[in-house]
Amino acid sequence: MTMTRRRFLALASAPAARLGPALAPRRERYDVCIVGSGAGGGMAAYALTRTGANVVLLEAGPEWYSERDSMMLTAAADSPRRGAATAERQFGEFDGCIGGWDVAGEPYTLAPGTEFGWWRARMLGGRTNHWGRYSFRFGPDDFRGKSVDGLGDDWPIGYDDLAPYYDRLDRFIGLFGSNEGLRNHPDGIFLPPPRPRCYELLVQQASRRLQIPCIANRMSVLTRPHNGRSACHYCGQCNRGCGVNANFSSPGVFIKPALETGRLTLVTGAMAREVTLDTAGRATGISYINKATGADEHVRAGVVVLAASACESARLLLNSHSSRFPNGLGNAGGVVGRYLTDTTGTDVGGFIPRMADHVPHNEDGVGGAHVYMPWWLDNQKLDFPRGYHIEVWGGLGEPSYGFMGAIHRYPRGGGYGKQLKDDYRRYYGATIGFSGRGEMVPNDDCWCEIDHEVVDRWGIPVLRFHWKWSDHELNQVRHMQRTFRSLLAEMGGEALAPMPTKEKGYGIAPGGRIIHELGTTRMGRDPARSVVNPDCRVHGVPNLFVADGGPFVSQADKNPTWTIMALAWRASDHIAEQRKAGAL
Ligand SMILES: Cc1cc2nc3c(=O)[nH]c(=O)nc-3n(C[C@H](O)[C@H](O)[C@H](O)COP(=O)(O)OP(=O)(O)OC[C@H]3O[C@@H](n4cnc5c(N)ncnc54)[C@H](O)[C@@H]3O)c2cc1C
Ligand code: SF4
Repeated sequence: MTMTRRRFLALASAPAARLGPALAPRRERYDVCIVGSGAGGGMAAYALTRTGANVVLLEAGPEWYSERDSMMLTAAADSPRRGAATAERQFGEFDGCIGGWDVAGEPYTLAPGTEFGWWRARMLGGRTNHWGRYSFRFGPDDFRGKSVDGLGDDWPIGYDDLAPYYDRLDRFIGLFGSNEGLRNHPDGIFLPPPRPRCYELLVQQASRRLQIPCIANRMSVLTRPHNGRSACHYCGQCNRGCGVNANFSSPGVFIKPALETGRLTLVTGAMAREVTLDTAGRATGISYINKATGADEHVRAGVVVLAASACESARLLLNSHSSRFPNGLGNAGGVVGRYLTDTTGTDVGGFIPRMADHVPHNEDGVGGAHVYMPWWLDNQKLDFPRGYHIEVWGGLGEPSYGFMGAIHRYPRGGGYGKQLKDDYRRYYGATIGFSGRGEMVPNDDCWCEIDHEVVDRWGIPVLRFHWKWSDHELNQVRHMQRTFRSLLAEMGGEALAPMPTKEKGYGIAPGGRIIHELGTTRMGRDPARSVVNPDCRVHGVPNLFVADGGPFVSQADKNPTWTIMALAWRASDHIAEQRKAGAL
């Protein structure tokens, strides 16, 4: 479905049921074609339309605007499912993401022995509609891992190259946080943070005693009106998408203003198949499947930007093979799909007797924790090379299907009738938990490639994944487990499950399950060892760029999306400069 400015303005006031029929795609040649409208693609669309470029944005999923489509404030009790997951809403009935680990007609395969999950959002805005909104800058050391400990590789750019873009993101999108002056956790331009909730104060006291810093979280949620968007009213349902646009999502913050310039043409239901080239080896556009008709279509553009997510953009490059590029684009060194990483993760929840039989109190807040713990130790004194941060959960969120896990895990929990109801009232809000999010070092066993035996419903060859954690990550996760158990003990609580054994990987989440895949089109100066250059331009194709998590050379102990957007804005600036100079 094609979206022009006029159509967007008409739709903004139209009830959902009156959305009109698909318009025929325009046939003109655009200045830029972007594939994917999530964090990276939305950023590029916003930035490039502002520079005067005429942009077409291809998005595989349908339109979705949280102000119109969010299920914010729908009570779980009003649904026969009580909020339980569905095939299309795998994180719960009201979650703001259409897609999941399994997408009908879009399989992927796993090499023998591999455990890996690939989350795909299929909607305008991609995963930014329901993401956690933890918005951290990478620190200076995160760009120079090899120089610090000899592992992996350094980035060809450093913190100073991205700092102006982080500043711009802070100012334009808005996020809350506190300036702390920590060495490798750069401060930002923050809105005031919300005050810690009751259980978070308990966590802060315990972490202080264990000498673990526990500071205000950094989330792209508006605690004050900002740039024409209203402030959060603390309903705590950010994962559903925000009906008042007070948190960051690509449609609400990037796509809408881009459409308002009149220079963005949005084509939804468009599944990109491959990048097309002319005889000189320059990109000419994208061939895609119109999902409504099943027809193959083509859009022409002077510049192509892939932002379909790290693995999907690698898939597009690999599927764009020809006699000139037999192994796909940017793949002279066989690097496309290699260096795939995900954040490490494990969780521990515990019962805290002091929180049982709680006195009713206000725990309203944003849809996420108000505090977190940045990495605080020196890896040279530990048996693993890279750090992690700790995310905190608990409290009195709206009960829905499956809440509290299982009541029989609590002391005296279970039973029938009145006893069961009393136990739920007693223990509700008495669980506090921790999730570690750590840095993985890229290794040769984690990568993806084209599986030439399997195609998706449109005949496009699918990805096959390979995955194996190294001892670096397993030792790190063991440290997480021990730390979380110490925190629970310090609060007078006990974990709800025993420490996972070495055979169980100390409870490490399988690859892909933290949904921070990066590195498949990594950045570098040498085409034999990288896929894109420091400006995110694909080696060997002068007008083809990647603007998602693919170009990352390494993870960090921070979530990646603020850095994905900083890189996408920087690449967009480069494209604009080159266009102005007549080079693109
Ligand atoms: C539940 C959850 C919580 C998260 N929490 C955080 C967090 O707190 N902090 C953080 O930093 N990160 C978080 N993330 C990760 C974050 O969402 C991603 O890093 C970010 O969205 C990646 O941006 P992207 O543009 O690469 O991909 P996406 O946002 O997924 O966007 C890709 C878009 O491309 C489209 N697309 C894909 N293939 C094609 C194709 N062939 N043709 C056309 N269009 C295509 C998709 O439909 C999608 O709209 C979270 C993710 C999830 C799922
Ligand atoms: S908590 Fe705030 S930002 Fe999140 S959905 Fe509710 S109002 Fe919107």
